[in-house]
Amino acid sequence: MPTVAVVGRPNVGKSTLFNRIIGERKSIVEDTPGVTRDRIYATGEWLGKEFHIIDTGGIEIKDEPFQKQIAMQAEIAIDEADIIVMVVNGREGVTEDDTHVARILQRAKKPIVLMVNKIDNFEMRNDIYEFYSLGIGDPFPVSGSHGLGLGDVLDEVISHFDNLNIEEETDDSIHVSLIGRPNVGKSSLINAIIGEERVIVSDVAGTTRDAIDTKHTVDGVDYTFVDTAGIRKRGKVYESTEKYSVLRANVAIERSDVCILVLNGEEGIREQDKRIAGIAHEAGRAMVIVVNKWDAVEKDERTMKEFEEEIRKEFLFLDYAPITFVSAKTTRRVQTIYPLINLVDESHKRRVQSSTLNEVLVDSILMNPTPRDKTGKKLNIFYGTQVSVAPPTFVMFVNDTELMHFSYKRYLENRLRQAFDFTGTPIHIITRQRN
Ligand code: GDP
Repeated sequence: MPTVAVVGRPNVGKSTLFNRIIGERKSIVEDTPGVTRDRIYATGEWLGKEFHIIDTGGIEIKDEPFQKQIAMQAEIAIDEADIIVMVVNGREGVTEDDTHVARILQRAKKPIVLMVNKIDNFEMRNDIYEFYSLGIGDPFPVSGSHGLGLGDVLDEVISHFDNLNIEEETDDSIHVSLIGRPNVGKSSLINAIIGEERVIVSDVAGTTRDAIDTKHTVDGVDYTFVDTAGIRKRGKVYESTEKYSVLRANVAIERSDVCILVLNGEEGIREQDKRIAGIAHEAGRAMVIVVNKWDAVEKDERTMKEFEEEIRKEFLFLDYAPITFVSAKTTRRVQTIYPLINLVDESHKRRVQSSTLNEVLVDSILMNPTPRDKTGKKLNIFYGTQVSVAPPTFVMFVNDTELMHFSYKRYLENRLRQAFDFTGTPIHIITRQRN
């Protein structure tokens, strides 16, 4: 899927474009707190063509002068995207900052679409011509407040898709990503997990997509560790910022079957850990929680059991994810990770028979009858069926979807989890009305 990045100074109207593209797409899972707020990465579509979109303006680099910030946002766009949309303010004309950003973007040799926002009436149309001086192509006039012209910008964006050489992933290895905030030990852990036999695929194949992954086979099972280049590379200033690490996590999660959430046993749990975990949960990926740096923890100070309880308390929405404690430094217990990847991957892809599913549903309803609303109307579940895997998704046909309360859904989810051993995977339950 192509990736489109949006760059531009604050208040030029980037979010107008961003919101228009992601539109009404609402995830089918309930919103996880903290995840949807100031989203910088999303999947959108225009005329049936899907793509990822990055709002680089959301990646602020603290304590850096403004010029440097926007320069870095432009660099991030170049590094991460196939197509770049530069948004400028038609009322202000070309600014020094615009020229600065345009010059950086030019060097990338990637398609650039220039959107001139705030052209709210016909007379202002003449104002767009000066933007030719940026040297990045035809300016497209847009009025974000009137919703005019955005369609032309998006038409232009998708017109470039055909010329991109994006390979779809076809191999059936298990795609695994290590996610977590900076310094929890992701790159140390990838080295400990893959060990000496590491094969960096870029040496073998050489496509851009492959160059960022590492393939590995253990006991006859093939794994692709996605975005290992992103885990290893160091140097650019923005790579240590929180927002950039969230963006990287988004990209990696998108391409994974299984996410390994790496926590720092020495430092404990932080807000940022929850944020990243929430993205993986929302995306419906299988998950293993790995507590790293366990060698550095005074055992009488913080036992595994205590830390585990803390994780369960802090990550309520991840109650399905198995936890293991390791040290990338000494490689102690690192071998516990592979069996857990296999376990959660199997759950993630498990398909259950409708007959067995409905037996479990009948049983569950007998044990804990369905709720009634204030008028005494009772929820009736006629039957359920699994409609997809990865993650397992069930449709339940009911008399009235309003009657399916969160708590009862949660109860059913737990029953299904126990009955079919869905360890390590979220489960989606969708209710449909049947009259
Ligand atoms: P990343 O940013 O998540 O990739 O983290 P790194 O792998 O670069 O590790 C950050 C720091 O933690 C480095 O100084 C590592 O040497 C250290 N580190 C990583 N794993 C362990 C571990 O298991 N135990 C200890 N004591 N230190 C570790």
